[in-house]
Amino acid sequence: MKISKFYSPNFDRKKRSNKSIKLIIIHYTGMQSERESLIRLCNHKSKVSSHFVIGLNGKIYRLVQDNQIAWHAGKSCWANYRQLNKNSIGIELVNKGHQFGYTNFKKKQLSNLVKICKSLIKKYKIKKRNVVGHSDISPLRKIDPGEKFPWKLLAKKKIGIWHNCRSGFLRKFREFKIYSKRDKIQFIKNLKKIGYCFSTNNKSSFNKTMKAFQRHYRKELINGVLDKECMIIAQNLSKKL
Ligand SMILES: [Zn+2]
Repeated sequence: MKISKFYSPNFDRKKRSNKSIKLIIIHYTGMQSERESLIRLCNHKSKVSSHFVIGLNGKIYRLVQDNQIAWHAGKSCWANYRQLNKNSIGIELVNKGHQFGYTNFKKKQLSNLVKICKSLIKKYKIKKRNVVGHSDISPLRKIDPGEKFPWKLLAKKKIGIWHNCRSGFLRKFREFKIYSKRDKIQFIKNLKKIGYCFSTNNKSSFNKTMKAFQRHYRKELINGVLDKECMIIAQNLSKKL
């Protein structure tokens, strides 16, 4: 795996131990070009960075060392972890994103992402359930890496988790309204078990978290509304944990 060395000054001065690395967070750059993204992530004024950037042709850049805390996650939460910069490795995929023209991720980009993830998972013993997207950990603020990110493909390679329900079966339950309070409570439990953090008595927080869940696990319809398809998926996922 060829890695080009870059340097970003945007990390905490204090180093961290290998043991504190528990998660991998996937992002997209959301900028017009690869060059522009690298410049921003390496500029001290931007106060953002990531450990790796993967270009459109698969080129891998390292900006920050693993034992340094890069500034990619911001205000975030996943399961029992808060403010995830200190516990995570950030990987940015070059993509214009929703703002400038969101495109499919490139094959070479994904194959190199798989290689990096595999080596990190092995080195730091990262759990499958702790490989997630920026929108999963900051659902109120972020939508990257977005619905075009192929989580199912990664899960086939043991990176992240995926359900094992057939899509033809699931499709039947799309937009199937949930009336039972017990079902809703069970869904919320499952969502929390998967790792999502949200407040149940704040409607907007719940809707945005719902959208993050859909972007990850049910990209065909991202409407922020709980339906039976989402319920079945969450139930299936939570059984694996
Ligand atoms: Zn991000």
